[in-house]
Amino acid sequence: MSGDRYTPQSGDASIGVDHYDLTLDYKIATNRLSGTAVIRVRAAAAISAVSLDLVGLRASKVLVDGRRAPAFHQSDRKLRVTLPAPLDEGEGVEITVVYGGAPRPRRSRWGTIGWEELEDGALVASQPTGSPTWFPCNDVPSDKATYVLTISTDSAYTVVASGVRVEKGGRGSTATWKFEQSIPTPTYLMTVVLGRFVEETVPLDDRSGRMFYPRPLADRVHADFADLGAMMALFQERFGPYPLDEYAIVVTADDLEIPLEAQGIGVFGASHIDGVGGLERLIAHELAHQWFGNSVGVAAWGDIWLNEGFACYAEWIWSEHSGAETAHERATHHHARLDALPQDLLLRDPGPDLMFDDRVYKRGALALHALRLTAGDDAFFALLRAWCAQHASGTATTDEFVALAEELSPVPVSDLLHEWLDELPLPALPRAGRAGRAVARAVRTATSAVSPRR
Ligand SMILES: [Zn+2]
Repeated sequence: MSGDRYTPQSGDASIGVDHYDLTLDYKIATNRLSGTAVIRVRAAAAISAVSLDLVGLRASKVLVDGRRAPAFHQSDRKLRVTLPAPLDEGEGVEITVVYGGAPRPRRSRWGTIGWEELEDGALVASQPTGSPTWFPCNDVPSDKATYVLTISTDSAYTVVASGVRVEKGGRGSTATWKFEQSIPTPTYLMTVVLGRFVEETVPLDDRSGRMFYPRPLADRVHADFADLGAMMALFQERFGPYPLDEYAIVVTADDLEIPLEAQGIGVFGASHIDGVGGLERLIAHELAHQWFGNSVGVAAWGDIWLNEGFACYAEWIWSEHSGAETAHERATHHHARLDALPQDLLLRDPGPDLMFDDRVYKRGALALHALRLTAGDDAFFALLRAWCAQHASGTATTDEFVALAEELSPVPVSDLLHEWLDELPLPALPRAGRAGRAVARAVRTATSAVSPRR
């Protein structure tokens, strides 16, 4: 049984995973990973075997509830474990997999994803199906789990991973780092980054921040992330409380094609940090994913606009607040651009090939702007806060968003959203109703607690 329509070869809908306990040893010089994964599986249907995703690494031993599995079989994508006795729906079992090899990214229709060696270190960029390149898992966004990750590696390197760091140390040439992720997290949002980093703590509104970066990039990092605390304050005001205790920024010495979000972490490449805030929008975008995508997760990849459209709109909200272009100016600009592009993408269900198409991001943000113009600022931001509160640490669907918007808007909005979500032609941006007129006039809200930078 496939787990997601967009990634039919990943995941298994007949199981759910409650918890992964991963103990890894990684040799940076030789790119060797050896691991033990203890996975608490719950049967979502009657099953006699458990099928996990594992790519490019070899399982050498498999236990079921502490005893040798009757049999296990590994293909190039799957590890299938025969259970000693069938399970009924709702019953649980603990699978232990001892595995290892030379981890490398896998090829996919979205490029190469997963565990990747850097010039001097390594990182994991999984979205959407890269996680099996570093641990056996049920690799679908709907299946959130908690994690403990213990990783031993060369002590010259700093390890950053999703979760609260509870151990850091070790003597001699090897150091062991331990992280606990108690917030339910899908596999693709688990990451680990190894590098030679300076670590610095920074206050972020009422949360704590950590920054990890190569020393030579210090000035550029300090300049470009100077507003991160103000962004955190603005987003907490607009979206509700930041869902975690901490937010970490990692900047790699390598250039990266795109920054990436992981649970509690934003990872940027040296190429994104120019020292003059040239890519400030990406910093806002990745932070916003902590609410949209990471806390409120997608139940299926087809709803990806709930991640990317919202994170893109957060860029415009920050732009407006910081005194750069207003959200309305950005929306008008991007509407004109999209209008000139092919209109062959359904926002609610773009298909796997187009799920990361820029039009999903921009049309998604425009749909939200259209909603804001129609419902007005107060109702719009109340909707975003209610959305984040209702689905915190869970998953959600487009239908649920439309229903909540209809419930909280002072005027009907389901027809409007239907045009943006379910029809191909690009709708015109609505004229602001009475409630939304202030937005169109680009008056910044007086309720903001954060002073603009520029
Ligand atoms: Zn994004």
